[in-house]
Amino acid sequence: MKRVVKVIVFVFLSSLFATPVVAQERVSAIRAARLIDGSGAPPIDDPVVLVRGDIIMAVGTAADVSIPADAQIIDLGHFTILPGLIDCHVHITGTPGDGGDTQALRETEGHGAIHGVVNAKITLDTGFTTIRNTGSNSYGDVAVRDMINAGVIPGPRIYVATRGLGITGGHADINGWSPHIDLPGYAEIADGVDEVRKAVRRQVKYGADLIKVTATGGVLSAGDAVGAQQYSFEELVAIVEEANRAGIKVAAHAHGASGIVDAANAGVASIEHGSLVDDAGIAAMKANGTFMVPTLYALDFIIDEGAENGVPQYGIDKAIAIADAQRRQLRRAYQEGVRFAYGTDAAVFPHGRNARDFGILVEELGVPPLEAIKMATADAAELIGIEDHVGTLMVNKWADLIAVEGNPLEDIRVLEDGVRFVMKGGVVYKDNR
Ligand SMILES: [Zn+2]
Repeated sequence: MKRVVKVIVFVFLSSLFATPVVAQERVSAIRAARLIDGSGAPPIDDPVVLVRGDIIMAVGTAADVSIPADAQIIDLGHFTILPGLIDCHVHITGTPGDGGDTQALRETEGHGAIHGVVNAKITLDTGFTTIRNTGSNSYGDVAVRDMINAGVIPGPRIYVATRGLGITGGHADINGWSPHIDLPGYAEIADGVDEVRKAVRRQVKYGADLIKVTATGGVLSAGDAVGAQQYSFEELVAIVEEANRAGIKVAAHAHGASGIVDAANAGVASIEHGSLVDDAGIAAMKANGTFMVPTLYALDFIIDEGAENGVPQYGIDKAIAIADAQRRQLRRAYQEGVRFAYGTDAAVFPHGRNARDFGILVEELGVPPLEAIKMATADAAELIGIEDHVGTLMVNKWADLIAVEGNPLEDIRVLEDGVRFVMKGGVVYKDNR
């Protein structure tokens, strides 16, 4: 290896594995031009956030918060402070391509975990301090979560679904190959009430923080129709019952209308994608308090950049077929009062583009910028079940906050590449002032 290459590799690895300075009990006083607290409240000007250890001690205007004499001042100038962003739909061990089918065939659990190490750092640097990992083809997501929590690698807080559940021949299976080849399935393949109960219990046993279920067909899967229901109502009820018994929630991948209705009525916490939601689905979601996690930009990426990124033609065709309906039906669901939590399907597109959905929410679904931010802060925290700790900048919450250059209420797209400062649990991971 040539010396210059060695140096580059060394610098890269050093930056990847650099252990952040451990948060000390000294108080930090963070100042900026304005602060959006994530609750949906209007921004405040000239804010101060006091942080001690990993906890927020005070939030308010400079006139209201007195800064201790020995505090470390972090002056973020003309930036806007926000809570660390939350993406409720990420596949941290995945990379763009065919939805994981060939990744599952060519790569080991180790490959997935290493993808996860790299993607976790990218995700944190982009301003997302918490993610919900909605499915992995291995238990690599558990490894990435645990190594982040242990301080071994940098990354967001991760709540993992481990492998997820899917039916034989469905969206999460690997289809289109000879029956003489024994293929593993991207998710755990389980059919019938007894099998899904056992599959949920196994995933809980191996570290799941939530259960992911593919209730309908999908875009990046061969041989199934996007809108077709895959799990029956009885199976969905059994999955929710087992998950809830273990104290965790269920996220249902569902594009098709009937699958959305049955999943919502079975008691899942969220519908992922929701592209073809109809009036019955909207009513069922409102009646059950089900969140919609819309994953908007993922379809645009498949259509615009899928071909050169390994997406098979069937995936591109399916995306084109539902694209108009996705924007129309999700806009309708939002306007009719379905609650939304921010989620993107990162891995379908390159990790680090997690903020692309904000612009689509605002420009195409008519969501006010402050409300779009709330979907990725307070509302996302509520869906995951961690609203007592993250999602809003309030006293006694974990010190997860970011700062962006510019004002996202004037131009929501500054969230895409304007994140200059990232703090998670009181530790500064990025400071590009
Ligand atoms: Zn997904």
